Amino acid sequence: MTGGLDAQQLLDHLPAGVVLFVGDRMRYINPAGVALLEGDSAEVLIGRSVMEFIHPLDQARITARIRRAEARPLHNPPTEFRIHTARGNLRVLGLTSVTQPVEGENGVLAVFMDMTAHSEMEQRLRESDENFRSMLENMQDVFYRTDAQGITRLVCPAVRNVLGYEAEEIIGRPAADFYPDPEDRNELREIILREGAVRDFPGQMVCKDGRVIDISISTRALYDEDGGFAGVEGIWRDITERRNLERELERRATTDELTGIGNRRCILEQVGDAIERCRRYRRPYALLLLDLDHFKVFNDRYGHALGDRVLKHFTAVVDAQLRNNDRFGRLGGEEFCVLLEEAGPQEAEDVADRICRAVRGSPYLDEEVGDLIVTVSIGAAHCSAGENNSVSRLLERADRALYQAKQTGRNRVQWQA
Ligand code: GH3
Ligand code: MG
Ligand code: MG
Repeated sequence: MTGGLDAQQLLDHLPAGVVLFVGDRMRYINPAGVALLEGDSAEVLIGRSVMEFIHPLDQARITARIRRAEARPLHNPPTEFRIHTARGNLRVLGLTSVTQPVEGENGVLAVFMDMTAHSEMEQRLRESDENFRSMLENMQDVFYRTDAQGITRLVCPAVRNVLGYEAEEIIGRPAADFYPDPEDRNELREIILREGAVRDFPGQMVCKDGRVIDISISTRALYDEDGGFAGVEGIWRDITERRNLERELERRATTDELTGIGNRRCILEQVGDAIERCRRYRRPYALLLLDLDHFKVFNDRYGHALGDRVLKHFTAVVDAQLRNNDRFGRLGGEEFCVLLEEAGPQEAEDVADRICRAVRGSPYLDEEVGDLIVTVSIGAAHCSAGENNSVSRLLERADRALYQAKQTGRNRVQWQA
């Protein structure tokens, strides 16, 4: 034999288990086989039935293979089966066998290896694969993957509940197709490329029925083996309801309920922003404080409810005199504020006078009482380009001017340098 070893010696050194049996009874088993079956020695095992070791659930299948091999010369293809070793441990063996004549009888020569670890790994893989699939099937958020060209390669079925498309309708199409503005997708892509990942990135998507929904995306970049960009993978969720709620809360926090214009907090914030902008870009601006004249008397005479309607009417009249980028808000009660951004002294004066005249010239028409004339006094402060200022200093100046306007007859505009 090869290298001075005979067949018996070769089998004794083989790292795989080898067993020869006739009519189920073991005639020979090599040391690796003894070790796999956890027997004390070959002598103890020889003569015993191989079926003693085979797991009851696998016995019928293995018996059929043995009988097949005994019936005619055959090479049984590889299979796996479970055994209980001599010490009672459960193992999975991989086995292949051939028919082997032994002293006029047809025996079976089998080679087997311990596949327990392999089998457990496979089981775990299968379980995690099943978990992944069931997660994809059942998740409320949308899991997706795109390739380096931005083509959707995977999207979970939940997308149907959110966008109205079946997953198959989306796979193979550019992800950008579903953004109302493809620029949004480019912006997201740039951040992912730069940072490697994004969390809770706000965006929008278009549903099959044309509706635009708000989404929040958490996603990361994928790279190939050479470190090249290979696409992105992540999750997005429909946050339309949350965004609508946020928008409504924001609206309530910044809007005056009665008149619908900005409330005190909103207008003062806008004034602060405008002051900063005008300082930086060296632009002039003006602030007007408006206070209705003798409104207390008005309320006392006609009632608070009618006073409210007049306030709304007044708001509409003033609003009609303003340009798009002018800001108008209610500071409280019957006091209002107008900010004229980028307005030089002359232009600001014109607007203020126009407001004053428009209020006087637009009586509120009440069905029962008839025409109701209200007038407004305006205290105004102008700031030239580049002047340093603060909201409180500006309000103070306008307030002093307003006081003078009231002192000197009302229904007029007073400027404060
Ligand atoms: P003047 O400013 O010309 O000096 O007189 P005035 O009567 O307007 O004086 P003041 O500013 O002190 O009074 C404001 C009045 O505005 C008091 C209150 O009756 C009325 N007012 C304040 N807020 C509201 C409101 O939301 N609805 C109504 N209907 N009236 C209000
Ligand atoms: Mg007042
Ligand atoms: Mg007043």
